[in-house]
Amino acid sequence: MTGTTCAVTQAYEEYLAFTEERLCGRCLPCLTAAPLIIDIFRRLRQGTATSADIDQLEKICAEVFITALCKHGQKAVEKISRVISDYRTTFETHARDKRCPERSCEKLLQYAINPGRCTGCGKCREICPAGAIVGEPFIPFRTDNHPYVIIRNRCTRCGLCLTVCEEKAIEVA
Ligand code: SF4
Ligand code: SF4
Ligand code: SF4
Repeated sequence: MTGTTCAVTQAYEEYLAFTEERLCGRCLPCLTAAPLIIDIFRRLRQGTATSADIDQLEKICAEVFITALCKHGQKAVEKISRVISDYRTTFETHARDKRCPERSCEKLLQYAINPGRCTGCGKCREICPAGAIVGEPFIPFRTDNHPYVIIRNRCTRCGLCLTVCEEKAIEVA
């Protein structure tokens, strides 16, 4: 289901590893910044962050880099700054479009029905536990068929519809 790990997730996991293995709490800037940094990463990966959060993340990292007591704390935030600089578009896509280009952030997956492949069997609608699929069975020669579509804000990304669609008409982006 997921592709390769996106830059946001990779930076997040590396920073988490730092907090678990190295963060000692001897200096306040590094200690107090950690929950803020983690919160921004979490929201980026859940689709609730904005572009302003990326700026805020950069600002926090720059401040910690100057004030941190040891090289471990400095390196941890320096790495985040570098990743943001190298993969700004990926970060913006998470924040602005609520989309993960690598499909590694599960909460940002977007399910959609390809009308060109859908035969209108209705199996996906029957199985969807969230009531996120609307539409009616396809009736030949009728001009007012209601094709099946997924209502994005109702979809919980459980993936069940994928398991029943024999036409492979449900796409995940
Ligand atoms: S910068 Fe270094 S000394 Fe300060 S809390 Fe972080 S790991 Fe500890
Ligand atoms: S299961 Fe597939 S073919 Fe059937 S209605 Fe859903 S998307 Fe269309
Ligand atoms: S992924 Fe789950 S919630 Fe979303 S449309 Fe498919 S079955 Fe419904």
